[in-house]
Amino acid sequence: MRIVLLGPPGAGKGTQAAKLIAAFGIPHISTGDILRAQVASGSPLGQRVKSILDSGELVTDEVIMEVVIDRISQPDCQKGFLLDGAIRTVVQAELLQGYLTKAGTPLDRVVQMNVPDTLLMERIRNRQGAVVRADDTAEVAAKRLQVYWEQTAPVAGYYEHAGLLAKVDGVGTVDEVFDRIVKAVSA
Ligand code: AMP
Repeated sequence: MRIVLLGPPGAGKGTQAAKLIAAFGIPHISTGDILRAQVASGSPLGQRVKSILDSGELVTDEVIMEVVIDRISQPDCQKGFLLDGAIRTVVQAELLQGYLTKAGTPLDRVVQMNVPDTLLMERIRNRQGAVVRADDTAEVAAKRLQVYWEQTAPVAGYYEHAGLLAKVDGVGTVDEVFDRIVKAVSA
């Protein structure tokens, strides 16, 4: 099962990803987690991307695709993978399609979690203080949402055109949303 999870910051992608990987037995690939680990370790890549992560802007497509392709070509991804927040521009989607088509391992489904902006801002505000993330301040959260609408929302159209997109209502309890996603990927 090869799945891409799309959705704005605060939609609950991380929570659903954790449940999905347990249900499907596939590795969870979060480029945000990978990049934060690089920043924490002080690696050359981490040093290059730190200020971008702190600002809420996107890392370049070249850097992201190197990270994604390096990760999905590892042996544990032969059984599939869940890409969580890893595809955020149409260029990234195109590069991934090109790579997977060549490898003969196409995506099975792309799930877009939809949550209204007002609720997203409320959720992001509520997690301030609880989760200490440099990019969780109100200002950066607003920037991340703006970047999402400008650069990531069009990715859904790309996958819709490719016949891969399933839109899921992301409002509800964790289990309700999870059931919708499972139905969407199994359809
Ligand atoms: P996340 O934890 O998924 O919200 O990612 C945190 C930050 O990492 C984002 O705000 C971006 O700066 C960067 N990032 C993660 N994934 C990508 C991606 N696919 N394209 C560009 N930047 C990304």
